[in-house]
Amino acid sequence: MSEQRLPATVITQKLVNQNAELTGTIAVSQLRRLAAVLCSSEGEAKVQLHFAIDDQRRQRVAAEVSCNVHILCQRCLKPMPLTLDSKVEAVLVASDEAAQQVPRQLDAVITEEGILNTQEFIEDELLLCLPFTSFHEYNCGLYAGSDETSQQPERRKPFADLADIMNKS
Ligand SMILES: [Zn+2]
Repeated sequence: MSEQRLPATVITQKLVNQNAELTGTIAVSQLRRLAAVLCSSEGEAKVQLHFAIDDQRRQRVAAEVSCNVHILCQRCLKPMPLTLDSKVEAVLVASDEAAQQVPRQLDAVITEEGILNTQEFIEDELLLCLPFTSFHEYNCGLYAGSDETSQQPERRKPFADLADIMNKS
């Protein structure tokens, strides 16, 4: 079943008034900043957006994103699969100044002239999900057989004897 593409931009007022839910996909290849740090720009992000007005009459959008990607393992320099998942709830604001009025615990997304750039919004969220470091879960060390935890017999501590001697004096 192929899902439809999410529109790259949406007019928020109508969606908010309708309490609308939008679901769709965005091709990773469309997300240039994200694709730049991945091994491949194949695949797509699955996105669900829910628009609403909150009790303080603010325009809100709740987003759920999930995207399977491949990034480079920093140990073996081979691609490794990774799922980027994010849930975010943000207030839609018209300007930078308005964004600063939004309480800190909430995210703010700027909509220019009432238009939300869904692609940019989602891409920002996915970029935030990227881990600082990425390693395969299994030990994929560059040098086979140098697996420190399982291969090496217990090492003698070269200074253990010295410590003994010191203690005796
Ligand atoms: Zn690896």
